[in-house]
Amino acid sequence: MDKEMFTKILIANRGEIACRIIQTAKKMGVKTVAVFSEADRNSLHVSLADEAIHIGPSPSIESYLVIDNIIQAALSSGAQAIHPGYGFLSENADFCRQCDANNLIFIGPPVEAILAMGSKSAAKNIMAKANVPLVPGYHGDDQNSATLKQSADDMGYPVLLKAAAGGGGKGMRAVYHSSEFDQALAAAKREAKNSFNDEIMLVEKYLQQPRHVEIQIFCDQHNNAVHLFERDCSLQRRHQKVIEEAPAPGMTEDLRQRMGAAAIRAATAIDYQGAGTVEFLLDSNGEFFFMEMNTRLQVEHPVTEMISGQDLVEWQLRVANGEPLPCTQDQLTLKGHAFEARIYAEDPEHDFLPSTGQLTELRSPLETNNVRIDSGVVEGDEVSVFYDPMIAKLVVWDLDRERALQHLTRALSDYKISGVTTNIPFLYNLASSQAFRNGDVNTGFIEEHDDEIFHRRQEDLGYAAPLAAQAILIAREESARDLAEQSNEPNSPWHLVNHWRVSNNSPQRLTVTIGTEQVKVITENSALPTNIKAVNDATGFNLFTPNGVFHCAETQPDLGLDQDQDSSGNLAAPLNGTVVTLLVDPGIPVTKGETLMVMEAMKMEHSIAAPSDGKVSEFFYQPGELVDGGAELLAFEHAET
Ligand code: ADP
Repeated sequence: MDKEMFTKILIANRGEIACRIIQTAKKMGVKTVAVFSEADRNSLHVSLADEAIHIGPSPSIESYLVIDNIIQAALSSGAQAIHPGYGFLSENADFCRQCDANNLIFIGPPVEAILAMGSKSAAKNIMAKANVPLVPGYHGDDQNSATLKQSADDMGYPVLLKAAAGGGGKGMRAVYHSSEFDQALAAAKREAKNSFNDEIMLVEKYLQQPRHVEIQIFCDQHNNAVHLFERDCSLQRRHQKVIEEAPAPGMTEDLRQRMGAAAIRAATAIDYQGAGTVEFLLDSNGEFFFMEMNTRLQVEHPVTEMISGQDLVEWQLRVANGEPLPCTQDQLTLKGHAFEARIYAEDPEHDFLPSTGQLTELRSPLETNNVRIDSGVVEGDEVSVFYDPMIAKLVVWDLDRERALQHLTRALSDYKISGVTTNIPFLYNLASSQAFRNGDVNTGFIEEHDDEIFHRRQEDLGYAAPLAAQAILIAREESARDLAEQSNEPNSPWHLVNHWRVSNNSPQRLTVTIGTEQVKVITENSALPTNIKAVNDATGFNLFTPNGVFHCAETQPDLGLDQDQDSSGNLAAPLNGTVVTLLVDPGIPVTKGETLMVMEAMKMEHSIAAPSDGKVSEFFYQPGELVDGGAELLAFEHAET
């Protein structure tokens, strides 16, 4: 029978995950207490919660990581339970103990389970006993450098050194030759010492091009355990997840069942409770190896929610409350395909350096049944130096992978973010690359497809440049139209924008900058295909195409008549040039859009088109004549309507 649910929980976290937890708590009628640092005083999670308690200065070491402050906040607010989210104190055994000692329910596993999985080497020992296949390697207590090196020499190179206490890819070093071992070990140990104050090392066989496939599991206090299928998190940069998906492409039902069963064996071996993730490496032969278990909700849990139709935060609250799991294994079904892209304020072109600053503009894609956005920031917020610079998790779903992927690329191109550099173009290129579309993923994907993702290939320039030039011409036309709308000169031809093409379809020459390359293009002013989209930014625009996104700008403004024409109604020359040809006779009716004359300026030709049906009453210049910038070129009479 269902027990009475908590009435109030505290969320010991910030950002999108705090908002995400508040959302489910609200749905369940549970009151929420947010905690916040100085920098987060006005943040979204604070405004969404029923109460909020200040827990310290901006650095997380003085706020979100201070166990006492959080326990005190929980006690003073009357919360019965604490949800730790992910990161921060979520896998901290001391915190879990402090919750227990203060009669606060920790919404997570028992402390013993956290301890069992806290060390990658201890975890491997437990998993070996539970008959869960391990990545081959050394995870012994003897940490003598010679012993570690001998183990590497025995298993053969390449090997991967890992910090037992590791996380976030820190303290990891690949070693390709015996001769490099000692130096790599010293470096990995230094990093581990700095990050975790622990230099215990594991040596693993460095698998080549494996996939990262993890299983979401759930256990309750009544010996029930289920798995909620797998997620493929192979798209990584520096061993950090970038795009995750569920199910894993190419997964067979047989392999899913074997991996699911192994994950449940792993969880039951440590008397697990709550949400957990068992991470495996999957090789090209379909063999899988236990890597580690995360004893918390994962960042990428939404993809599992999308394909299973379950609310994992609700499950967490129910399990922590002592209720049985909401579903049995047989009741769980997998439907469709989901992706999550982690949108970051960072600069992929500069080694993914975090980008901080104010989100002066944050326009997100529309949320629908297919598009979900988990975010903890709104326009105007600051991406600060204090925390992870994630802006949002973009989650998409559809009945099959191909359609889900279309939602992903479309939604990415719908974002408009100013104030910080984002990884959106990088994500878009990943998502639109052919290999990813084929589901041909492995953990080395980004390095392998470097050229394609960062568009360093020459053939991409040839593809993008004409599209960029068209986008520029269209943008000019649009700005001319805007000008016309603002103008209050009733007789201005700019008012007749519906028919007035500032430049007609005769070829135009432009120089565009694509990335860092300059390309000369001759183009016509035709509409962009519907699958191409230009989104302006501070230095130009991003051109989203089926073959990736290109950052473009107009290198040398095409200083033609079309652009510099003022809105006073004069068809005036913007700069010094020469009349090339007159194409119609004065007094003879012309139709809107018809080319009236051609002028050359700055070595480029510019066509002057009829603003409406009507006639030229007089040309003020003849072919070959020089025209000063600003001079009126012709007089035009509009036809009676
Ligand atoms: P962390 O806890 O620091 O995130 P993990 O052990 O979870 O480290 O590994 C992170 C990623 O590193 C994996 O998803 C995988 O891409 C890569 N990796 C880890 N171990 C191996 C291995 N033995 N062989 C190849 N790649 C590995």
